[in-house]
Amino acid sequence: MFKAILIEKDEAGYRAGLREIDEGQLPEGDVTVDVAYSTLNYKDGLAITGKGPVVRKFPMVPGIDIAGTVRESRHPDYRSGDRVILNGWGVGETHWGGLAQVARLKGDWLVPLPEAFTPRQAMAIGTAGYTAMLCVIALERHGVTPDKGEIVVTGAAGGVGSTAVALLSGLGYTVVAVSGRPEEAAYLRNLGAAEVLDRAGFSEPGKPLGKERWAGAVDVAGSHTLANICATAKYRGVVTACGLAQGMSLPATVAPFILRGVTLVGIDSVMCPRPERLEAWRRLARDLDPAKLDAMTGEIGLSEVVATAERLMAGQVRGRITVDVN
Ligand code: NDP
Repeated sequence: MFKAILIEKDEAGYRAGLREIDEGQLPEGDVTVDVAYSTLNYKDGLAITGKGPVVRKFPMVPGIDIAGTVRESRHPDYRSGDRVILNGWGVGETHWGGLAQVARLKGDWLVPLPEAFTPRQAMAIGTAGYTAMLCVIALERHGVTPDKGEIVVTGAAGGVGSTAVALLSGLGYTVVAVSGRPEEAAYLRNLGAAEVLDRAGFSEPGKPLGKERWAGAVDVAGSHTLANICATAKYRGVVTACGLAQGMSLPATVAPFILRGVTLVGIDSVMCPRPERLEAWRRLARDLDPAKLDAMTGEIGLSEVVATAERLMAGQVRGRITVDVN
C-alpha cells in the first residue's frame, strides 16, 4: 500500500483526498519510481480543485512533476537506484502522477536528476521553473540580449514568474515584474526585479498599439494582459506566452506584428522534445541562483495538498511549493 492524492468523479461529484492505494492498481509502465518529492503547479491546482478540465481519466493521481529513485526498471536507460525527474507528458492528467509515494511510468519520459540539484531542489524548480527557462531560451534564440531593453514578467509572484525574474536578472536583463500583490514588491526586488508594476495596469482592454517599452516578455496571464504587452512591445520585441492565469482569450489586433515586427512565441513544456528539456535543465543548473530558489520555495506534506491547491487557485501562494510525499 502507498499514500497518494486521489481524484475521483462519479455520482457523488468531483473530489480529491489523501488515500491508501494498493500497488496492484498502479498503471502500466516500464519503470517504477519511489517518489521523494513532488510539487504544486497551477495545473495541479486546476486538477485537484476541479476548476479546469485537466484530468482526462478517473480515478487519477495528480502531480505533473516527480523526483525520486528508480525501484525497478525494464527500460534500457534506467536501473534500480537511479535518481530521476519527470515533468509533464500528460502525467497527472491521463497517467497517474507524482502526488504519491510510488509512481509507475514510461522510462522515455524520465530525465536523470541533474547533478547540481537535490530531489527537493529539482521539485522547487518543477514544471514552473523549467517552463520559465524555456521562455528565457526562446527570448535568447530570438536575439533578445540584455542591452536590448527591459523584459516584463507577469504573474511575477507565482511559480513561473518568480523563477523567470530570478533567471533573467541573474543573466543581466533589466526585469520589470508585474504582480497583483503589492505586498510582494520587496520579495520580487530580492529576486532581482528592477521595478514592480501593478497588474491592474495590464489587465483591462487596451489600445491596438501603445508606447513602445518591452524588448521581451514572459507572460503567464494571457487574455488582455498578453494583448497589452504585445501592443507595448518595442520594435522587433519578442513576447513568450506560456499561461492563462487571466484567461484563455487573446483579444488582440495584428498591429504589433505587422507594424512593429513583434514576435509572439508559444511555449509548451508538456510535450517539449527531450533534447530541449535536457538543455533547459542544464541551463537551470548553470543560471539559477540556489539562494534565490530557496527564498521562493515553501514545503508541505501530502496531507496539506488539497488545502494548498485551493490557496494556489486563489492566487495566495507565493513562488513555489514542494511536496514531501513521505
Ligand atoms: P502560479 O499560481 O504559481 O502563478 C500564477 C500567477 O499569476 C499568480 O501568482 C498571480 O501572480 C498571477 N495571476 C493570477 N490571476 C491573475 C489574473 N487574473 N490576471 C493576471 N495575473 C494573474 O502558477 P504557475 O506559475 O505554476 O503557472 C502560471 C501559468 O503558466 C498558468 O496559467 C499555467 O497554466 C501556465 N503554465 C504553462 C506551462 C506550459 O507548458 N505552457 C507550464 C507551466 C505553467 P501575481 O499575484 O504576482 O499577480
